[in-house]
Amino acid sequence: MFTPENQHALISEIQDSGLLTCYTDKTGLPVSLYFNGTALEGGFADCLSQLPAPWQSAMDQLMDENFINVNLDAIRQGRLEEAVEVVVGQENTGLFLVSRFPLSHGSETGLLVTIRDISGISESRLKLSGSNVLFDLVADNMSDVFCVVGTSGKVSFLSPSICELTGYTVEELLSRPLTGIIPPDSIEVVTRIWEEYQPLFESGKISKAEIRPVCFEVKFIRKDKSVRWAEVSSSPFIDSDNNIQGVHGMIRDITERKTRQEAMRTSLQHEIELSQVKSRYISTVSHEFRTPLSIIYSNLQLLEKYRFELDEETIHDAFELSRMAVKSLLRVLDKVTIIDASGKGKLEFKPSICNVHELCQEVVDEMNEMELVPNRIDLTVANDIGNASIDENLFRHIFINLLQNALNYSDKKQNVSFSVYPGEKGFINFKVADKGIGIPPQDMQFIYDPFYRASNSRHAKGSGLGLAVVKECLQLHNGEIFVESDPLKGSIFTVVIPVGNTE
Ligand code: ADP
Repeated sequence: MFTPENQHALISEIQDSGLLTCYTDKTGLPVSLYFNGTALEGGFADCLSQLPAPWQSAMDQLMDENFINVNLDAIRQGRLEEAVEVVVGQENTGLFLVSRFPLSHGSETGLLVTIRDISGISESRLKLSGSNVLFDLVADNMSDVFCVVGTSGKVSFLSPSICELTGYTVEELLSRPLTGIIPPDSIEVVTRIWEEYQPLFESGKISKAEIRPVCFEVKFIRKDKSVRWAEVSSSPFIDSDNNIQGVHGMIRDITERKTRQEAMRTSLQHEIELSQVKSRYISTVSHEFRTPLSIIYSNLQLLEKYRFELDEETIHDAFELSRMAVKSLLRVLDKVTIIDASGKGKLEFKPSICNVHELCQEVVDEMNEMELVPNRIDLTVANDIGNASIDENLFRHIFINLLQNALNYSDKKQNVSFSVYPGEKGFINFKVADKGIGIPPQDMQFIYDPFYRASNSRHAKGSGLGLAVVKECLQLHNGEIFVESDPLKGSIFTVVIPVGNTE
């Protein structure tokens, strides 16, 4: 059966085949030929010799059968004629769909003849469809539009397939202003292309060799108000004396292609961003690893070379420095692991009932072990702070990062304060305050972004990952963080965490 589904397949096959366009004079003699929008050079025989091989033998036969000016008078009266021409070759048989339209240039009425190779469609399918059905199908469904515009800008031919493309009939379309069909930005494109043709029109004549097709994309507004994309392939055309007659164009709906391109561009952009993030991870991690690794390496060398000459205290210091360096490496790895896990939605939240005071003291002790100048953190915990439902591991990450920043961005001689006090009912407030370099106002909104470092902190060590880790860990606790900072006074980070169910 000839169903709507195989109609559709048939039409797409027809549209994908080659297209030969030919303009004739009033007697039906070919004046110029274009293959897939490109002008063919030389006399008629030369033109044919430039066609792909299967087309050449087909055209020889079609010419013998005087295919172009069949029923010229009927066509002149305004009818569109279409016929499937069968060309029997030595090896196989070709099928060509020949369409003839009347076309006025100057005072003459010639023809616009289009020939499509439809041999790809199996004979059985054609028989099944019946040639009448095929003619209707092509006339009704072919979505390519041919358009011919005179040098004055007047449209002298528009194929009926414009209705499929725009929803308007040829008459409706020609009576509307261009602004109702093409949005302003695309009108600019059309105007620019048309202006580029002006010097050619003024010169009046060009040779075929000078004809260059121009391809451009424009938006258009359909009758149902939807906006779609079209690709226009335009080219000037000439008569037998090389006089420019106007411009012909082939218009095709490319909205789906544009949508696919856009989707590809977005996913490409996403890929680029991912690869940038990856390379920032690598450069941050390798940069942050360099100093601790060289500390470990130099201490190992010291111990290897002078182990029998060194006193106890120096040996102890060498081990201590190496231990701190290893811990600092582990911290960087912790940050990267947390950001990575959270990005994949795999950061685990395992709350348990904890004594908040004890937990804070453990964090402070851990920080003291890590610092070259220990005991710079003043911890104050209000008496009425009891237990809370907290994920101990994530809690450590939150306050190790905040305290590390407070120590890192302030003078080694200055202490930082870590105070814990009750907040609104059911909440505990944690405040980490320092008198350090502060954060410039213009950087404040970005400090939680991974890898972001404020403009005044470049001289200090850091990866730009600490506050991103704090944010991720807090989110799982349903907690919040606030910051007040002034480059003249220092910074105060306040964290608010719900006590949760402590039963
Ligand atoms: P980093 O490893 O660079 O410290 P963070 O994510 O922890 O990364 O912090 C982001 C940026 O915010 C830091 O580079 C720094 O510019 C700024 N910052 C964070 N905490 C402080 C603070 N207590 N004092 C001054 N600047 C800070």
